[in-house]
Amino acid sequence: MAGEPQEDCLFCKIVAGQVPATIVRETETTVAFRDINPQAPTHVLVIPKAHHKDAATLAAEAPELAADVLRETRAVADEDQLDSYRVVFNTGAGAGQTVFHAHAHVVGGRGLAWPPG
Ligand code: IMP
Repeated sequence: MAGEPQEDCLFCKIVAGQVPATIVRETETTVAFRDINPQAPTHVLVIPKAHHKDAATLAAEAPELAADVLRETRAVADEDQLDSYRVVFNTGAGAGQTVFHAHAHVVGGRGLAWPPG
């Protein structure tokens, strides 16, 4: 069923506390934690606690939860005192998605080139 925890999902395990993470913020519906392989001084992942495989699915299945995730990206930027930052949802393997539990990357703390690679 949409949103149910998946046994083989790394981020569901982080939500359940079964895999350690450096958590920076938690709400009733979301968790934000530092990326294990940071690409910038701030690199935080914001995830919904419920399992949805990617951002598009999340938006379709649970739009209010998608809004919660987006709202939390701002809160993470505030936490790290960032005026400018980038929010990225890699969606699909061809775009670099490697963990199939929806997540927003919040990246900042250095200059960011455009277009991204
Ligand atoms: P994706 O490539 O957009 O799916 O992003 C997945 C991100 O999860 C990558 O930036 C990884 O570095 C990160 N990641 C993988 N495993 C862990 C972990 O155990 N803790 C924190 N971040 C992780």
